[in-house]
Amino acid sequence: MARELHTARLTQKTCISDPAQCFHLEYVIEGLDQFAFKPGQFVSLVKEDSRGKMQTRAYSIASAPRANAFDLCVNRVEGGFFSNLLADMEEGDPIGFHGPHGLFTLRQPLTDAILIATGTGIAPMRGFIEHLFPDHGPSLSNGRKIWLVYGTRYPTELYYREFFERKAAEHEDFEYITTLSRAKEDWTGQRGYVQEHVARIATEHLSSQSQDMPTAAEGAPGFNIHAYICGLNDMVSANRERLTSLGWDKKQIIFERYD
Ligand SMILES: Cc1cc2nc3c(=O)[nH]c(=O)nc-3n(C[C@H](O)[C@H](O)[C@H](O)COP(=O)(O)OP(=O)(O)OC[C@H]3O[C@@H](n4cnc5c(N)ncnc54)[C@H](O)[C@@H]3O)c2cc1C
Repeated sequence: MARELHTARLTQKTCISDPAQCFHLEYVIEGLDQFAFKPGQFVSLVKEDSRGKMQTRAYSIASAPRANAFDLCVNRVEGGFFSNLLADMEEGDPIGFHGPHGLFTLRQPLTDAILIATGTGIAPMRGFIEHLFPDHGPSLSNGRKIWLVYGTRYPTELYYREFFERKAAEHEDFEYITTLSRAKEDWTGQRGYVQEHVARIATEHLSSQSQDMPTAAEGAPGFNIHAYICGLNDMVSANRERLTSLGWDKKQIIFERYD
């Protein structure tokens, strides 16, 4: 069956990091009143290149469902076709897409969760946090503890920093941890790779829990914590290995690889 192709129009473009050439892009979909998707899913954008070949690239949705709109977070890749095309779009320009797609979504019933991202892997995490802790209305976290561990090289690459800091200040069940791998001396925050901080959280979580595992939904294993990892493959693998070495089951680890 042919995939239904939609047209999205760029309504707002914001450069969220000039050094990293990263853009927050907001789109509305023509001919739709509602765009139904689960936070964390992606869309497949399509565009013909100069040789007439149809190019398709996946981009995680960086927002929670909102009428007929969705946001993306895209950084330029040197020599890349689609990332530069998106970064060069002007407000009002159209782009074709199909979707939503993907299984990188919050498992139900919601458990405590460690969200782990590097670079633009933060996109679906923004969708999760907008969904769990909306600006208006009650929090949907249901008392579960949510950690976001975000790693980049430099502070200028901490995309959406103010948004996550505000949400963490407003909700004590949300903790935002940033860690830089190439910070200068004046950086007073955390350093090193995300997996080091993830391992600490996982270990502390284990020791804070009683021996009795709660029973989850019927037929499902009683996991009381999940990890959601998004970014480039090396980082995803490093975190999966680290968590499994701590005794985590593979089913507790949900991931999206960008490469
Ligand atoms: C499920 C999924 C979701 C994704 N979500 C996002 C998102 O939210 N934001 C986002 O910016 N990207 C995201 N990506 C990556 C995106 O699909 C493209 O791969 C990326 O934008 C590069 O495409 P391009 O056409 O510019 O580069 P291409 O023309 O495809 O490649 C040009 C060169 O860059 C290299 N390259 C390709 N991708 C990357 C990369 N990510 N980093 C470094 N080098 C690369 C290639 O090996 C090649 O040498 C996602 C990928 C997947 C699979």
